[in-house]
Amino acid sequence: PKIASAEASDSSAATAEYPPAPARLWRPRRVLITPDALRYPHAQAMLVRAEALGAEILRLKANRLPTFAVRDASKIGPDGRNPVDERRSYAQAKTTLAIVTAPPSARRLQPIPPSADWQFHLAQGCPAHCQYCYLAGSLSGPPVTRAYANLDDILSNLTPYLGQGTVTSRSSDRAAEGTTFEASCYTDPLGIEHLTGSLAAAIEHFGRWSLPPGRQTQLRFTTKFANVDPLLPLAHNRRTRIRFSVNAASVARDFEGGTASVPARLDAMRKVAEAGYPVGLTIAPIMPVANWREQYTELLTAAAAALRGIPSPDLTAELITHRFTPGSKDVLLSWYPKTTLDLLESNRTQKRTKFGTFKYVYPKDPMAELRTFFYEAIPRILPTCHILYWT
Ligand code: SF4
Repeated sequence: PKIASAEASDSSAATAEYPPAPARLWRPRRVLITPDALRYPHAQAMLVRAEALGAEILRLKANRLPTFAVRDASKIGPDGRNPVDERRSYAQAKTTLAIVTAPPSARRLQPIPPSADWQFHLAQGCPAHCQYCYLAGSLSGPPVTRAYANLDDILSNLTPYLGQGTVTSRSSDRAAEGTTFEASCYTDPLGIEHLTGSLAAAIEHFGRWSLPPGRQTQLRFTTKFANVDPLLPLAHNRRTRIRFSVNAASVARDFEGGTASVPARLDAMRKVAEAGYPVGLTIAPIMPVANWREQYTELLTAAAAALRGIPSPDLTAELITHRFTPGSKDVLLSWYPKTTLDLLESNRTQKRTKFGTFKYVYPKDPMAELRTFFYEAIPRILPTCHILYWT
């Protein structure tokens, strides 16, 4: 279903044959800024950009954000209670940018296997409307996008972690990447970059990071957006791998809203590869939809076409099958009650996590079929592509 109040582009026409549609940039309706955040010049620069896009600016008196719960007075129940209107609360949150300072807990970085040694956060939340959104399982509360004002603290906090990684740094296959830092666990940083400028600052921070002899590092992020032009001239020093999250045409059409189209993302991948960035495909979430072999073959073929003529592109692939938890299912169904996404537990098998919880993944046989397909098709269609992992 379309979100009536969404102010972003729609990817529904995306197929590999169509030329990339120009992606519209997200324009939040309102921008909230906390008193703490307002002290930072980085936050003030965000305000200026948001104001230029016509957003209403609200300077908060306290550092707490409002609840974003919208209640409909006409729906007061017999018990006198006025329930939260989930859809309107969702729409309100998704059209809001909050500029805040990162909580102190953000200073203790956590590993993020299998992607990277460490995760860190420039923001939390995303303005797009993907009906399978992985943030539904990892963030709580209304899906407002929070951009962090204290960027310099966030970047300088990375220094002690250099050389400390235990995920990719301990992998014989990936140790050459150095200490890896993932910036897209809680947000799509490119989707809000025209407002924040945080990604460009992070890319340049990694590019000029003065490393001790023998050390290497990599900034990593993945995106469903395509507005890469401001990133092209940056002094990235090949230390940022930009991955584009892509999918079968029908998955993008049916379940992704407010993102750039898949052809636009592939076009953006070409541009950043030409600018010397290492690139990647995050094929996620992989789903055995109708004609999935043909659709994923078409996707890989379009990716190969996008990179044609670029001498030895540094290309990786990360392959992530669709999964959900009881909690993420509940959240997604409250956001997208009419979704046709397959969230039936009976079609899945339970996989235990090391935290004692579990998630629903595809059963052994369809999982093996999907895996076999990608491990055969990628070397055939994208021979220089290095598959990083399957999950
Ligand atoms: Fe979620 Fe990524 Fe879609 Fe944003 S682009 S809504 S983070 S899946």
